[in-house]
Amino acid sequence: MKINKDYLNLSENYLFSEIASRVKKYGAEHPDKEIIRLGIGDVTKPIAEPIMAALKSAVDEMGKKETFRGYAPDRGYEFLRKAISDIDYKKRGCDIEPDEIFVSDGAKSDCGNIQEIFDKDNVVAVTDPVYPVYADTNVMAGRKIIYMPCTKENGFIPEIPKKKADIIYLCFPNNPTGTVIKKDQLQKFIDYAQTNDSVIIYDAAYEAYITEEGIPHSIYECEGAKEVAIELHSFSKNAGFTGLRLGYAVVPKALKREGVSLNALWARRHATKYNGAPYIVQRAGEAVYSEAGMKAVMTQVREYMENATLIRTKLSDMGYEVFGGVNAPYIWMKVPKEMSGWDFFDLLLDKANVVGTPGEGFGKCGAGYFRLTAFGDKNDTQRAMERIKGI
Ligand code: PLP
Repeated sequence: MKINKDYLNLSENYLFSEIASRVKKYGAEHPDKEIIRLGIGDVTKPIAEPIMAALKSAVDEMGKKETFRGYAPDRGYEFLRKAISDIDYKKRGCDIEPDEIFVSDGAKSDCGNIQEIFDKDNVVAVTDPVYPVYADTNVMAGRKIIYMPCTKENGFIPEIPKKKADIIYLCFPNNPTGTVIKKDQLQKFIDYAQTNDSVIIYDAAYEAYITEEGIPHSIYECEGAKEVAIELHSFSKNAGFTGLRLGYAVVPKALKREGVSLNALWARRHATKYNGAPYIVQRAGEAVYSEAGMKAVMTQVREYMENATLIRTKLSDMGYEVFGGVNAPYIWMKVPKEMSGWDFFDLLLDKANVVGTPGEGFGKCGAGYFRLTAFGDKNDTQRAMERIKGI
């Protein structure tokens, strides 16, 4: 037996494991200290009441002979795919049909798995800094990766790849920089993909956090996107499903390469390797699109964004240079000149007992930056800002 040696090309520590181990060590050495975590992008608000009601009612259905459900349909239940098609797409003028939507257990699995339908020899372009999953899953598959730098100078919007990229991962609103892309900037990527026969994987996990007008919520708002793009969504960050697990991928029927429909390829992969998100979770997902559900979800998002505003303004007042946090729950800050992101991580942990994420963990261009998240409790976020002010 031989192992997959491509795994040996991965960097040794997964970013959040390294953070967790440093925090654990600090906690063990300083048991009296109360640590505030603004590091990992997990939500803290419980699932909203109308969504819980749907979840509980679905749980009851599972315990009765007449309403019990077994395996879900391959692509997910029609009731959920129809709600997604109507509300996330048709209401925004994007013509995405339910049979172009594949329900899954979240965007992480989808962005990790989608590359399976592409040849190993494809060149993959990812941003730097990047949500590590795009790069790592392609390293595991032995693909060549090229990086598109996102810096203060280019407003954290990548330039069109100079070398030929067959697969391009984009994420807006962006994790980790918290920036968004305008429609004309996104259109350039679509035009590039049309010319070069590339495919864009567009991760829209933070779409619900867009507050400003004129920012695209979906790549399909751009012309020609259905012929070049796959879009990924998550219920984690808008509706708090990080523990429940639910997401979806859109693979348009118009997206074909070498005469083959990618929708058909993904359908084949999905049917072979996946048995569907649980019925009860899909019912909870359906409730996210009910009137009461949407209202509750929007309230939670608004509350998180109040934290984002607080972090952004307080840090600016302290003299830090900050980015993001307007259309995204992430604040990307420049650390003091002589420090690295990891130095700043250790300083913040030690002096303020606040945990953030060093920019280096997201790539070379993240060096000297630090990410804070707005997903904490309001009171904790306020206290964290007071503590940072005190160092
Ligand atoms: N995509 C991005 C950009 C993320 O930041 C995250 C989680 O932090 C995910 C996907 C994962 O989403 P899910 O919980 O649906 O797997």
